Formats: sequence, structure tokens, C-alpha cells
Amino acid sequence: MKVYYSDHFVLPLPEGHRFPMVKYSMLRERVAASGICAPGELRVPRPVSDAEILRSHERGYLRGVVSGTLTPKEMRRIGFPWSERMVERSRRASGGTLGACLAALEEGFAANLAGGTHHAFADRGEGYCVFNDSAIAVRAVQAAGIVGRVVVVDTDVHQGNGTAAILRGDPSVFTFSIHGAKNFPFHKEHSDLDVALPDGADDAEFLHALDRGLERALETSRAELAIYLAGADPFEDDRLGRLSVSKDGLAERDRLVLESCRERGIPVAVTMAGGYSRDVGDIVDVHFQSVSLAARMTHPQKERGLTHG
Ligand SMILES: [Zn+2]
Repeated sequence: MKVYYSDHFVLPLPEGHRFPMVKYSMLRERVAASGICAPGELRVPRPVSDAEILRSHERGYLRGVVSGTLTPKEMRRIGFPWSERMVERSRRASGGTLGACLAALEEGFAANLAGGTHHAFADRGEGYCVFNDSAIAVRAVQAAGIVGRVVVVDTDVHQGNGTAAILRGDPSVFTFSIHGAKNFPFHKEHSDLDVALPDGADDAEFLHALDRGLERALETSRAELAIYLAGADPFEDDRLGRLSVSKDGLAERDRLVLESCRERGIPVAVTMAGGYSRDVGDIVDVHFQSVSLAARMTHPQKERGLTHG
């Protein structure tokens, strides 16, 4: 399976910053060691261009990001200090989602070991999100005339508010977000379908709600491509999550999403989104589960060889 990574575009963070940047290189190493990717399939994405970004973001915001002239308040909202590497990394992470979409359209499934930056709005970033990779990728594949209808299945524990806002009113894209009701963002936007879960929701509650929501999202969207945000933060030990979903429950989530799409013939680009568990190893485990299941579904004949990956 084709997998895109951009972890070597490291964005410098001050000591003690709570964003777990190390998860990306750990995950890439885990994927590389697992045999999921044939030689040449673990790829560095190209950066998305200004023109590609401008299909989803306002020109003034793009200019501010690129030139480092966003106000201190705007930067605080994003949560990262500005650097040229932050800009490059953000372009590459969106390029990874675009690359995964194109590869999924050819082979059924593909993954970006970054992306899921769903809190980025047209005119601002927030919550560690600079550019909205889902919106940028959707509009790039649509502009190329490759697909018409797309569904965004966002299972990160935080609502996909930026994605909902950017794509609102676009009948060709169906946005589905399942998230914690009391979690950030405290002001929710309107996705095409929002499912808000109470604090402490466990495997059964989460999976039941996901199953029903998926059914509706896939049925209504009539999508030809899905972008799946496989956030690791519904996990029970997540510092920001507020839910109680186990690792097995999250594996079952992956199975539900990927199999439901496969049954309907919808290719899936898997992206990572958030994860803030106390133990970064847990975050990597959860993300790896998502990527490896997608790989097993791409090449079912290899399934036995990968189960211990
Ligand atoms: Zn999140």
C-alpha cells in the first residue's frame, strides 16, 4: 500500500510543548519495519501549491502563514511558533493527503502518516492545524476531474469544525464528524452529519453511534472517495479525549469504516489527526492499527503475513 510521510520536516517546538511531534517518526519507523509498503511505496509527498491551498483558504491568511506575519493572537490560536519549517511541513502534510487520495483511487486504500488538520478554517488556523488537508485534497481531485462526490469521515474525538465550515454549502462533499460533545471546539460548526457523544462513552456506545452515522453518511453522500480521519484521541487514556474507547474498540472502528467503504466500492485515504495519550507508544499503536488494516484490505492475500506487524 502507498503511504505518505512528512515527519522529517520537523517543526521546531519549545521544550515541554504538549504536541507529541515524535509520534510521526515513530509511526513511520513502525510502518517501514512492518512490510506494509513494497519498495518505493513509502513516499514523501510533494508540497501543495498556493493555488491548491487557495481553493480552501483565503489569500490573506495564506499570505500571513507563508510570510510569518500572522498576529501573535493568530499564532497562539494555532498553537505552534511560526517557522519556515512549519509552513513547509503544513504544505507537505496536505500533499500527503492528496497523494493518499490519488493512490486510493487507483488501489482502494492508501494512507498519510500525518494530516487530519480539521480545525483549520478558510481564514484562520487553530488547534495545531494550519491548512485543512481534507478540503485541499478534495478540491484538488475534483479540479482534476477525477472524482465528483467525496465523503469525509472524521472520527477524531474533536469536531471537524474547520472542515465543516470550509465545505458547508458544497453539495458534492458530505462531512461526517463523530466527536465528544463537551470537547474542544466548544463552539461547534454544522457538518452534514454530527454525532456528539457524552463524556466517558465506551466501545459499545462509540461503535454503535459510528455504525449508524456511517450508514447514513455513505448512503446519503453517494461518494466516489472517502477521506477517513482516524484520530487516536477517542482512546481511554488520552489526555484531551474525555471518552473511554479501548485500543480494540478503535481497531473495530477502523474495520467498520474501511469495510463499509469497501462494500460500497469507495476508495479510502486514511489520515491520522490527533492523539494525546500519556504514553506516545499508545498513540502509535492506534495509528498503526488503522494503517495496517487498510494495507491488509488492499492486499488481502498478504493478510497472514502482516498480522504480527
Ligand atoms: Zn483531536
